[in-house]
Amino acid sequence: MTDTRERETARKLDGRQCAAAIREEVRAGCAALMEQHGIRPGLTVVLVGEDPASQVYVRNKEKASSAAGMVSEVLRLPADTGEAEILATIDRLNADDSVHGILVQLPLPAEVEEQNVIQRIDPDKDVDGFHPASAGRLLIGMPGFLPCTPAGIMELLKRNGIEMKGRHAVVVGRSNIVGKPMALLLLREHCTVTICHSRTRNLAEVCASADILVAAVGRPGLITADFIKPGAVVVDVGIHRITDEATCIELFGDNPRRLKAVREKGATLVGDVHPLDGAARAGWLSPVPGGVGPLTIAMLLKNTLVSAGNRIR
Ligand code: NDP
Repeated sequence: MTDTRERETARKLDGRQCAAAIREEVRAGCAALMEQHGIRPGLTVVLVGEDPASQVYVRNKEKASSAAGMVSEVLRLPADTGEAEILATIDRLNADDSVHGILVQLPLPAEVEEQNVIQRIDPDKDVDGFHPASAGRLLIGMPGFLPCTPAGIMELLKRNGIEMKGRHAVVVGRSNIVGKPMALLLLREHCTVTICHSRTRNLAEVCASADILVAAVGRPGLITADFIKPGAVVVDVGIHRITDEATCIELFGDNPRRLKAVREKGATLVGDVHPLDGAARAGWLSPVPGGVGPLTIAMLLKNTLVSAGNRIR
């Protein structure tokens, strides 16, 4: 904990503003592609089952792609759909020239082997960037689709003029969808990169040596003051719902807006970074909500536009 919490020094890495700019660029790109080549980018999302969080994500993706001027389709399959049928659906979408991007909403039901489904997607339509071919291209520096969350974070850093070359970046988390690709993208920008995970020793000390710290851990408020070098750039990927007042007060102090949200709406959102400590110690901080979250969908749209544009080469 810190005794400097009352001073909020961090500048905001505003994901909403950045995502709005990207979405506007994508909208203009879609209009130009249609006008010049008669191609309307098409995104198809496959949703298996009725997981409530997945339904919200899928609805948001549908709305955003329509608003950008894309053909937006959601294939809703029942929870008991077998793997063979899901694979057959992917085959059909792979063969459909009006579909430029295919996204299978994760998680899939436990009986379905996720990797089999991901690997069935044509890498040229892999707008989520999860296919091994996309991961391999990222690793060796070939052009390809980048996973949307880390790609969005790179946009956030670049568009805010954050210098990366030669700086020490620490990524906490090594998942295939956030931590690992994030580390590779920072490396591509010439950061010196350290990846931390659940077995890392002296986590606070390693994090406190970072000029750029990306927290993708999945632990609410884990990154406290002693993890943050004063003035560091801190990107908070975590999203957690806080539903009880005591935790809300521990994380946000007596912030009336947050308390009101818990009391009246039943929850407020927090990331992996302790918000008071982050605000008091970091030089730049991405807020939760309104930081990384909005960029994920914006980058999905961008990938879909790129995929459609690749048809004219
Ligand atoms: P995963 O659970 O797949 O990975 C979490 C990583 O954090 C693992 O590598 C794990 O280590 C590491 N970890 C867990 N606990 C600790 C600890 N105490 N100390 C150090 N490392 C630890 O999560 P994701 O990468 O999918 O997501 C991370 C967070 O980002 C989640 O909160 C998720 O909700 C959020 N998220 C937000 C998105 C957005 O659009 N804003 C998109 C995607 C995710 P190990 O490998 O050793 O187990």
